[in-house]
Amino acid sequence: MIRARRQSRKIRVGSVEIGGGAPIAIQSMTTTKTDDVQATLIQAHALATQGADIVRVAVPHPGDAAALPVIVREAGVPIVADIHFSYRLALMALEAGVAGLRLNPGNIRDPKQIAIVVAEAAERGVPIRVGVNAGSLDKRLLAKHGGSTPEALVESALHEVRILEDEGFTAIKISVKHQNVPQMIDAYRLLAEAVDYPLHLGVTEAGPPPYGTLKSAIGIGTLLAEGIGDTLRVSLTADPVEEVKVAKQILQTLGLRRTTFDLVACPSCGRAELDVIDLTRQVQERLEKMNLPPIQIAVMGCEVNGPGEARDADVGIAAGPGRGLLFSRGRQIGWVPADRMVDALLDEAVKVATENAAVEQAATEITESATTVWTTGSEAKLV
Ligand code: SF4
Repeated sequence: MIRARRQSRKIRVGSVEIGGGAPIAIQSMTTTKTDDVQATLIQAHALATQGADIVRVAVPHPGDAAALPVIVREAGVPIVADIHFSYRLALMALEAGVAGLRLNPGNIRDPKQIAIVVAEAAERGVPIRVGVNAGSLDKRLLAKHGGSTPEALVESALHEVRILEDEGFTAIKISVKHQNVPQMIDAYRLLAEAVDYPLHLGVTEAGPPPYGTLKSAIGIGTLLAEGIGDTLRVSLTADPVEEVKVAKQILQTLGLRRTTFDLVACPSCGRAELDVIDLTRQVQERLEKMNLPPIQIAVMGCEVNGPGEARDADVGIAAGPGRGLLFSRGRQIGWVPADRMVDALLDEAVKVATENAAVEQAATEITESATTVWTTGSEAKLV
């Protein structure tokens, strides 16, 4: 069973709410040089189109900070600036209108400079993520805890948080990332007990797919199933668009957010009368390019055990020799010849996904108008 979400404070990263019961936000990070405005915007758009709610960019040099005003204005998604050591870069990012900072105040060091940055962030309503990684813990903590233990990560994060709190700043979210998944899980569990700030989940340096995908799914997924986590970034040594796809699948698999397709497919066996693996690959490749509203699609390999799952999905096909039986919303639509199976399944998927999205939209509008009626005190009463 998925546990109830941990109660956390709510902060805002631009238009995106984090924590306090808000939907779990998906983040990713550009891999471009930020001062290459065009390349960064192309990647930010690609991430947003794929479903990233927030995009982070690295700001190691003044040229990167100078590029931020255009990126912030044209990205179409809240931009977080990732800054280390330099309070001047942090101020430039804030002046550029970033929606968030990822910054550890401890590595700015000078208390006066920290105070200036924090005051500016508070003035602009910009939150700060304190982000501690196993690889960058200071020597004192490593010695005290005997390595990059969960306790060391949490102590480091809380030290950074206290610096912000001492300035009266509480629009904070925290990450304690580790490349070792059990240690990462324990660190977040400890942190979740210690504070009520929203938590940004991630396995750092997870590596390329499929290894990084699996590490992230296990680490992030375990915590989310325990109710811990308010936003996440899957870190992959790959095109960051892949990070967003994996993040969406993690949330969807746990039933926490439905944003994409769910492809149910049988593993195939000796009973299959056609190449189920190839059929599923064709469906998957087409689905990944379609950007459909959420829908469950089943691809089953025979007429014996296939119809049950095909019937349970939004749309499904139970493939047999030379033909497949197409289902839509549990109803049997009819037989489709083998060379038309993929097209017929996806045509039906587009129809059903569009209808599903329209129903959801209508439900949202009804909920919003009911809220408006109650909050504005209109005479119209809903029962
Ligand atoms: S659905 Fe049919 S082909 Fe697929 S695994 Fe089950 S029995 Fe085998």
